[in-house]
Amino acid sequence: MFLRALGGTGLLYQLQSYTEPDEDECWTDEEVRDAAVLLRAAQNLDGDDDEEAEGGASVRDAREDAEHLWGLIFSHWRGAGRSLYRAQAVLAHFPWLEEWAKPSLTAKTRYLETLRAQAARFANPEELVVAAAATTLRTPELPCAAPAFAVLGANSRVSAALVDLWRRWQNAAGRPWEGPKARAYLSYEIVRGIRSNRKGYDAARAEAARLIESWEERARAAAKSADRAPTRRLTAHVPEASDISPRHDGRDFLEGLDAWTLGVLVTWTVDADWRNRVLTLEVPDLVAERLLGPASDLPCCPVDGAADLPECDRGPGSQPGTVRPGIFDDTPVFDRRPVTHDHIRALRTLAPGADQLYLVFSASGGAEVLPIDTIERRLAKGWLGVLIAGARDLPASVIGLEEPGSSAGPEACDAQRPGPGQRVHDPHFGASLGLAEGGRQTLRQTYGTEDRDLNLRLLALARGAHDLRSLDTDRPGGLPVAVWHGLLTENHLDFAPFRPPSSDRWRSGSGLPLGPLAAVQFYTTNANPLIEGKGHSPLCRHAHERAVVASDDLLNVADLMARTDFDWCSKCGGYALRRLTDSQLSYYRAAHRLHGIKRWLDGKSEVPDTDTSTMITHLEELAAWQPVDEEQWCGSDSWQWQDIIRELRRKVARCDGPW
Ligand SMILES: [Zn+2]
Ligand SMILES: [Zn+2]
Ligand SMILES: [Zn+2]
Repeated sequence: MFLRALGGTGLLYQLQSYTEPDEDECWTDEEVRDAAVLLRAAQNLDGDDDEEAEGGASVRDAREDAEHLWGLIFSHWRGAGRSLYRAQAVLAHFPWLEEWAKPSLTAKTRYLETLRAQAARFANPEELVVAAAATTLRTPELPCAAPAFAVLGANSRVSAALVDLWRRWQNAAGRPWEGPKARAYLSYEIVRGIRSNRKGYDAARAEAARLIESWEERARAAAKSADRAPTRRLTAHVPEASDISPRHDGRDFLEGLDAWTLGVLVTWTVDADWRNRVLTLEVPDLVAERLLGPASDLPCCPVDGAADLPECDRGPGSQPGTVRPGIFDDTPVFDRRPVTHDHIRALRTLAPGADQLYLVFSASGGAEVLPIDTIERRLAKGWLGVLIAGARDLPASVIGLEEPGSSAGPEACDAQRPGPGQRVHDPHFGASLGLAEGGRQTLRQTYGTEDRDLNLRLLALARGAHDLRSLDTDRPGGLPVAVWHGLLTENHLDFAPFRPPSSDRWRSGSGLPLGPLAAVQFYTTNANPLIEGKGHSPLCRHAHERAVVASDDLLNVADLMARTDFDWCSKCGGYALRRLTDSQLSYYRAAHRLHGIKRWLDGKSEVPDTDTSTMITHLEELAAWQPVDEEQWCGSDSWQWQDIIRELRRKVARCDGPW
């Protein structure tokens, strides 16, 4: 676990990345300057940009290259910022590594500054201020009565069209990199839906163009008259990507911010505290106004000249717990140290998608599989234990990850079709109840390929929980539903072989012992007829597929067979059973075969065309049944089993078929 924080996409990676220009993707300062100049020239190009003219294609190519470089530098700058933040966040938990990491951090900070300066070349401070001025302009008086707009229709139509035009222009003006040409083009919006050969079309469009030019002028004037010295000090809080989308953390650092905001950041950032994701800016008034305005994507607050520390700077509990060696690391289990609250908190920060389940050891509970939230709750009550492994620490070799295409094995098909797999003598009988099918179900219901591996690991770990209700953490975002389908099945057991014999020809059982099946667990939302509401499988749609929760009822086979007062949902049958282990499934098959033979011999079902010796062979096979994973099956259940078989063999000998 410790190594994961260090390795993988953890600290080591973060420290090594973004320290200097890439080998594959590198550019010189000159290239950056040329590209920025070229883009600015292209943007200010008014009139027709004769694409067909001589050299048009190469001009276009050069512009595309420049745009590509612009995007590349910005994405590198973002990536470098994110990486520095990640590295510092991890280091905060391992203070004794600080000295060691310092040179890398310095290199990273230096490279980040280089990237920022390069990115800033693409941003034009003038333009950014004008854009800010445009977006903070009040709606002007709109010339609704102008005769040129009469072609648009009634007065109300004209006024609506002009308000719309103003909004569009103001929006566009907030995106300066699109250039004035894109805004001038908006004049066509006003005559949209009007035939271009209609009288008055050109006049209306020309009037709109004049109007837009006047707005442009106003924005420029507002920018000019304002104080353009960067005198306002603000702090900007870069949202952490995981605030927005916890699953794809890191990928979207600084994304979702518009190009204007990014331009402002690269232009006017004077100080950056990446560890707390706080950037200090010194910006002109108009820019500050827009940043602090309601439309801003970036949470900012003003810094008072006096106060050195911005008040809204530090979030609560920003002092991370220190992680000493010997907790998450891969030191021998013998040397592991008890986990504490701080570690759990650190674990959550280090790996936001931390394993939900851990194999833990304590003197009070032995080895257990616990959700991280449960560990946290126990710690609050003074629990003393160590983490042995998380789901991701499990060796792939025992989980069967390398099994290719196992999601569509032949047994899975059989188990779904009503014919094969349903007949007692089919070797796949009951396969849909077993563990193997559980793994396939988990894979089938896991939609992201990147989750397949983790879900199989979680399934393997969860199988070690004694009571699946203990996996409920009282919080959303527990085990994925796909894993629950691997743990549980809504297919039901056929209890006939275990029912007592009776005179009812159809319903009579064989009185077979439950054997290993006695331990099978059944989970239901409600097994108490006194409590209102039908019982559902925790995976039933009627129970919102919410999976097992702590308040569910747990029954065993004996409970189910003994009681008749259950009120079960008709859709799911009322409960889900924990998938049968290999031994349980094997015994279930054997019991059904024996039950079938007994019914023939008792004359309760139609007799197949079988001779005595085959029948004897079958009985001998069944007499030799052993649990899959144990040496011996002994005890009263096995005596009862043998007794019944002996009885049947006597019967076969007496009757001496054929049946
Ligand atoms: Zn089959
Ligand atoms: Zn149901
Ligand atoms: Zn129902």
